[in-house]
Amino acid sequence: MVKYSVIIPVYNGALVIRETYKRLKRVMEQTDGLYELLFVNDGSEDETLDILKELAVRDDTVKYLNFSRNFGHQIAITAGMDYASGKAIVIIDADLQDPPELIFEMIQKWKEGYEVVYAKRIKRKGETVFKKVTAYLFYRLLRAATEIDIPLDTGDFRLIDRKVCDQLISMRERSRFVRGLVSWVGFKQTAIEYERDERFAGETKYPLKKMLRFSMDGITSFSYKPLKMASLLGFLLSFFSVIWMMVVLYLKLFTNLTVTGWSSLLMAILFFNGVVLIMLGIIGEYIGRIYDEVKHRPLYILKDGWRVGQKNEKVPYYVE
Ligand code: UDP
Ligand code: MG
Repeated sequence: MVKYSVIIPVYNGALVIRETYKRLKRVMEQTDGLYELLFVNDGSEDETLDILKELAVRDDTVKYLNFSRNFGHQIAITAGMDYASGKAIVIIDADLQDPPELIFEMIQKWKEGYEVVYAKRIKRKGETVFKKVTAYLFYRLLRAATEIDIPLDTGDFRLIDRKVCDQLISMRERSRFVRGLVSWVGFKQTAIEYERDERFAGETKYPLKKMLRFSMDGITSFSYKPLKMASLLGFLLSFFSVIWMMVVLYLKLFTNLTVTGWSSLLMAILFFNGVVLIMLGIIGEYIGRIYDEVKHRPLYILKDGWRVGQKNEKVPYYVE
């Protein structure tokens, strides 16, 4: 019988997690195979872990990994992939914004031979205008900035085949942007469309700061374009500077207008300093990421887990 894995990253999901479990259970019971529900507790500060324990005691399709602290959504998904044992692996958010019932359709497509089935949001219900606008801009900006084809308006809700999962877990890069990596590995991919539901309870775990970090990760891990733009801008500005210098020289040598010009001088200094600092910042973003990579720390640290065998010997692992 085929086996399905469902990976559910959870951060402070005590309000939703029982309901998520119930809905997922109902769906997975109706599939044709065996399944596991693999929760990844990303350092929650609420009762998430207690609830997961309780579920795991009652139901032996429930497994969980418990991080030693909050490592972030993308890392949590990766940990789930490291330990998932299914032939097909579904990644789904814990807050029921992604309707579990879509999994039927995903499995259907998978059986038709697609190795990645991602869910594309055609509508987002119950989100703030701010979230909608920033998300809209983010996906467009990402598309413009990167060379690989990352589908628009697509989150991490998707089904991937074992083959794809194995490729993904072999890439241990730190600033992870899983949906980009999935596009990067290729294979036969298709989309199904859906309307994103309201959050069942609780609030977003992606405040602006995390969202910005996430977008920078997405762009920097797939593109040098910001660096190219910086050097292009540098060339352009240098070109105009040369012209301006010639004008200044002409005024100095052939006219007596040179004492005025305090304002233009200051403006030029401020402008150029601003541009130079921005460029340094862009370079800094890349250098920071290089620094993170060369340290070669493990992607995450597990405190404990339930029903998950040791897979990746690099990861310290304890079972309660
Ligand atoms: N999440 C996580 N670690 C984090 C932040 C979020 O594991 O540091 C999980 C969260 O529990 C949820 C998913 O990532 O399952 C998406 O988060 P959320 O629904 O808050 O994001 P949004 O819907 O605002 O995009
Ligand atoms: Mg959500």
